[in-house]
Amino acid sequence: MEKSRLALPEKPFRIHGGANTPHRKNTRHSQSVVMPCPEQVVLPMSQHIGAPCKPCVKKGFTVAVGDVIGESTGHICAPIHASISGKVSKITQVRLPNGHLYDAVVIESDGEMRMSKSIKPPVINSDTDLIKAVHDSGLVGLGGAGFPSHVKIDIHQENHCDTLIVNCSECEPYITADNREAVENTEDVLYGIITLLRYLHVERAIIGVEDNKPDAIRSLKAAINNCKEKEAKNICVLKLRSRYPQGAEKVLIKACTGRTVPPHKLPVDVGCIVMNITSVGFLGSYIKTGVPLISKRVTVDGSAVNEAKNVIVPIGTSVRDIIDFCGGYKETCGKLIIGGPMTGVSVPDDSCPILKQNNAVLALNKKDSLLPPATDCIRCGRCIKSCPMKLAPVNIETAVKMKDIDALNKNGVTLCMECGSCAYNCPAHRGLVQIIRMGKAMVHNAAKE
Ligand code: SF4
Ligand code: SF4
Repeated sequence: MEKSRLALPEKPFRIHGGANTPHRKNTRHSQSVVMPCPEQVVLPMSQHIGAPCKPCVKKGFTVAVGDVIGESTGHICAPIHASISGKVSKITQVRLPNGHLYDAVVIESDGEMRMSKSIKPPVINSDTDLIKAVHDSGLVGLGGAGFPSHVKIDIHQENHCDTLIVNCSECEPYITADNREAVENTEDVLYGIITLLRYLHVERAIIGVEDNKPDAIRSLKAAINNCKEKEAKNICVLKLRSRYPQGAEKVLIKACTGRTVPPHKLPVDVGCIVMNITSVGFLGSYIKTGVPLISKRVTVDGSAVNEAKNVIVPIGTSVRDIIDFCGGYKETCGKLIIGGPMTGVSVPDDSCPILKQNNAVLALNKKDSLLPPATDCIRCGRCIKSCPMKLAPVNIETAVKMKDIDALNKNGVTLCMECGSCAYNCPAHRGLVQIIRMGKAMVHNAAKE
């Protein structure tokens, strides 16, 4: 008997909690600009979740764009490629926004952007070929997560994965990089989706797009309608109500399929793979060209920067070079954030390089950088209503103060995805995310003892 086809959803499912953050999508209509080759790039060996790479070049080596300069050292690891051509000037150590030191390869540009002779499109005839190609491309989750994509797509048949969810919700304020990917690179996005459906034997793909991106919705729908491939009838665009943190994996799965990922389980346990739209678009282009992951679209915005825009930069370009390309600072920068204002990381200066998973640089002036002072908790319960994971942040805060590990575990502190919705909605401006991080560290340390 023929298996019945899984229906494509016509409207999203209700999600729990979240916050009505402002959109501030100032660069939504800003056609991406390719930044000229910088004089130097710094390529840290850790640009993903998992084991860092090992440099496979030495000082003085000449490299071309696309040459591997950092080799994988484990399964959960993705190779790193030269993003400009030139000479390796040093192997050094850099401190990344996560506070850790990593080896880094520094390349001085020869100004030529010479492409590597090793570049050629991969041959794909099976899921194994696809997984290997994705590994060799250096692809990691480009929406911010940085999880190596070849591991994510290495699903086993017994998992019955039936749904690919393409994440174009881009729910953080300011960021429009994925919006521009959907508009500017639509054909590659569709090609990437079709490839994944075909070789992973996944039944359907749902592209989740928030309703504040009408141009992305239009472009994607038109491309699907015009597509002659048989997989196209199993792909849909699902318009989602704009609400933070819709782009969080578990929240998006709920919105697109109605399925709930149980605590400590993965998307694949409910039959889903979630991939960021820029990752899928890159995959489509890699399969056609063989050019590995060497550049990244970054939204540059904020009250301290002169010209807000979307810029395509070689990975490893310094934030300073990118800000200079955007006309420099127009005011003293009070806070520099890599990523969005809700989940991004504040960095002390603009010397840090752009990594694969970075999608925004926000330079805020002093006024916009100030947070209101925290006052006493008024037990209003808004943090509980806001939590998409149905946690009680106010109780976690009490457990942290009491150093009560049992209470932290009972309140599911490790399930917190640090979205910040609770803190955003707290009328007392409590620093709930920082407190929850402390709670997680306490649980972690207690488990080690
Ligand atoms: S939202 Fe803030 S003030 Fe209200 S209960 Fe939670 S922590 Fe307390
Ligand atoms: S407790 Fe964690 S998951 Fe829940 S709203 Fe706060 S930061 Fe988000």
